[in-house]
Amino acid sequence: MNNYTSESLSENLEAMRKFSEVYAKRTGTFFCSDISVTAVVIEGLAKHKDHYGSPLCPCRHYEDKLKEVMNSYWNCPCVPMRERRECHCMLFLNSDSEFASKNQFIDIDVLVEKIS
Ligand code: SF4
Repeated sequence: MNNYTSESLSENLEAMRKFSEVYAKRTGTFFCSDISVTAVVIEGLAKHKDHYGSPLCPCRHYEDKLKEVMNSYWNCPCVPMRERRECHCMLFLNSDSEFASKNQFIDIDVLVEKIS
């Protein structure tokens, strides 16, 4: 049994999983060799999407999350990622990163297992 009994949260988890795969492929970036890192970041994005309607970056502290969502700078993919391929969450890693795997896929069952 996992925590994803809420239908909308499950849907957002799947939406962010798919987004992460597609975006990694599109940008030629890779998931972390520790797939738990990938799973936790995707979960954070899904929770923000569920609560605020946008996948606000989960790796930062915000005084006012709603204000940040409206500002859109840190909505994933954030401006640093779009402009310079910098993902400080380590969701999207460049191939020369020591933490990068060669993988751009994460199975939903693996994802749920890692965050349960
Ligand atoms: Fe997304 Fe940017 Fe956060 Fe990486 S750092 S998870 S690209 S918002």
